[in-house]
Amino acid sequence: MPPIAVTPLEDQENVSELTAHGIEHALEKSAPSQLKSASLSNSITQLPATKSQHDTPTPLAELDASLLQTTYTTSPRPVPAIGSPEMASQRVCTDHMIQAKWTSSTGWEAPTLQPYGPLSLMPTASCLHYATECFEGMKLYRGHDSKLRLFRPSLNCARMLVSTNRIALPGFPPDELLKLIVKLCATDGAKWLPKERAGSFLYIRPTMIASDPALGVQRPSEALLFVILTCFAPMDDLKGGMKLLASKDDMIRAWPGGFGYAKVGANYGPSLVAQGEARALGYHQILWLFGEECFVTEAGASNFFVVWRTREGKVQLVTACLTEQIVLDGVTRRSVLALAKERLAAGHEDLEAVEVVERKFSMAEVVEAIDEGRLIEAFGAGTAWFVAPVGLIHFRGKDYTVPMGDDGESGKYAKVLKDWLKGIMWGTNGQESHEWGYVVDEE
Ligand SMILES: *Cc1c(COP(=O)(O)O)cnc(C)c1O
Repeated sequence: MPPIAVTPLEDQENVSELTAHGIEHALEKSAPSQLKSASLSNSITQLPATKSQHDTPTPLAELDASLLQTTYTTSPRPVPAIGSPEMASQRVCTDHMIQAKWTSSTGWEAPTLQPYGPLSLMPTASCLHYATECFEGMKLYRGHDSKLRLFRPSLNCARMLVSTNRIALPGFPPDELLKLIVKLCATDGAKWLPKERAGSFLYIRPTMIASDPALGVQRPSEALLFVILTCFAPMDDLKGGMKLLASKDDMIRAWPGGFGYAKVGANYGPSLVAQGEARALGYHQILWLFGEECFVTEAGASNFFVVWRTREGKVQLVTACLTEQIVLDGVTRRSVLALAKERLAAGHEDLEAVEVVERKFSMAEVVEAIDEGRLIEAFGAGTAWFVAPVGLIHFRGKDYTVPMGDDGESGKYAKVLKDWLKGIMWGTNGQESHEWGYVVDEE
């Protein structure tokens, strides 16, 4: 297998001056060409995972989970009680973490499973200055059938490669990352997500950073991959649904040619001003709009869906398309779309048949649907917030109420989709052996 963790030789030239020209040059050199031809909607499943973009004379070591070196902790820490402040703090990680180091001259070193603890980085490390960082967000679920499961983890590992490509971090075979994640979950799962905690989860955060101790604005020559598991309080449904504040035209999350499609840290820091304003005003998340037409893109770090009735009378499930690469290709988004196509196309129990549509749509269309009584429901979908019904959208000085179903807790389409996904994640409702549920064998 040819290694992909290579810095092409022609890219190794030093661009060390911190001048505009240097930065431009470095960015040009580090912009990957791999994604330019592949449409993002295909990239997760079709990105060549084991093929080098350039041939290279020196074989570099590939990331290889079978070389894992294990050092177990000698000071195991207590697991926070359910409902404790530690549990909700999102600061408590499990006993162990995965690490793997990469250099442009040797490739990937043997990965390690080691006690959880601080990283050692020089103050000049690239990631601290130039946002050479990307991550994934997944969950480890403790099923009601006692099994530990991941949900479609291969998609996250493939997306991580899309993200590393966008910011000139090294490639890796996504399957090797998956094996490392599974190993960490298998090691810490039994203690940190015990069988008595059926229905709860740990949050998994695979991360890659450029760790070069050199200030030059250049393609990284050293990187660190790590994976941690964090405790998370069980998520309560938001009473009355999620309240969204539509972004103003002076704050844009992502733009064509940018990097909104990649889970890179650079997308999130700059969104926190708007998010903080939204929270201060009593909203949960920003509804990110794009362009003069106010195209609807995402809600916070969740994809956004509406269910409306067209003027012709058809029920449609609509979400922003991925073609402009300003929307993240969410695993939950994909799963909602697939389940809706598979199980709602002909209707389900008292639910009318739904047509699934991925396209650009604008706030004007949403407002029109609300004003004409055609908006049936809206919801966000992502790993962190799961399927979150939306109760209200504030847009250009006006609050618009979004229908939340008969019980005022969730629209019916969001509810049925959420229940199906829950069944797959936690092994209930006859979904125990669905192909999207990846069972982790515990150690
Ligand atoms: C992570 C994320 C999502 C949701 O993706 P999932 O794979 O479903 O968790 C959506 N939008 C943004 C901007 C995100 O960062």
